[in-house]
Amino acid sequence: MRVLHLTIFLLLLLCTGAAATDFMLVNVAPADQAHMRRVLNQAATRLERLLEVDLPPEITLVLIQTQAQYDSVAGGEMPEWGAAAAIPRRNLIVIRAPLMDNYPGNRENLLQHELAHIALQHRVRFNRLPRFVEEGFAAWFAGEWGLNNLYAVAGAQFTNSLLPLRQIDDVNSFKHPEARLAYSQSYLVVHFIFERFGEVGWLEYLDYVAQGASFEECWRSAFHLAFWEFEVEYKKFLSDNYSITAILSNMTGLWIILAIVVIAGFIMIKRRKQSVIDRWKEEEKYQSTDFDYDQDDSPWD
Ligand SMILES: [Zn+2]
Repeated sequence: MRVLHLTIFLLLLLCTGAAATDFMLVNVAPADQAHMRRVLNQAATRLERLLEVDLPPEITLVLIQTQAQYDSVAGGEMPEWGAAAAIPRRNLIVIRAPLMDNYPGNRENLLQHELAHIALQHRVRFNRLPRFVEEGFAAWFAGEWGLNNLYAVAGAQFTNSLLPLRQIDDVNSFKHPEARLAYSQSYLVVHFIFERFGEVGWLEYLDYVAQGASFEECWRSAFHLAFWEFEVEYKKFLSDNYSITAILSNMTGLWIILAIVVIAGFIMIKRRKQSVIDRWKEEEKYQSTDFDYDQDDSPWD
């Protein structure tokens, strides 16, 4: 009987597709551990489904305090403003504790973002992805999009200063304002791929990268477009949806709704006033002693 229960339990575990990754949390306060583990487990389950990938059995997350510790653990030159780094080949996430809660998003976004890097790199078998895809997916997965990103993209289009996508490969050397634009544009690359080519297109693209196809070959095979054609379509997508004119034209609906609310409110107030006047007239009819309410009666001289 016990064997039967165990078998049913294992089958259920397989059916629910629970992520089997164990997260080792180093230097994390005991009070924070349960919450962080839950965020990571949920993100792992979503990533495995979305990317059709198995995460490694163990991932280590280290919280560090100083830049020196950060450099020695991460082993690379990270920008000063970077709150964290993922090192997929070592299944390692390093988070700079003082910046953890000053990340553009919240702490949960940061964990989701870094785990997305690890999952994505495993998915493409550590072949090189363009940075705008790599960062774009991590930001998109973590839902890192707000008004600041919208302003950055709309402003750059207005001033004709959008970054060419391949220039985003140098994102780590960017100063902060440029980095925001780079991340925002990258987010929208992945958003555009999902909108235009769907999950299937996205997975096919990753298949070609995993097979080691060249940069150009990946775009042509997965999306049937040369990269420059993809970039033209992507820019059109931005100007249709994320430019100042697009934002203003999308607000037309809002103005119409506001106008309807104002008119409806005006009518309601007018009706209420009328009903109060009618009630007063009615009350006056019964309280009056001179019976002058009849409109047909001539007023007394
Ligand atoms: Zn990142």
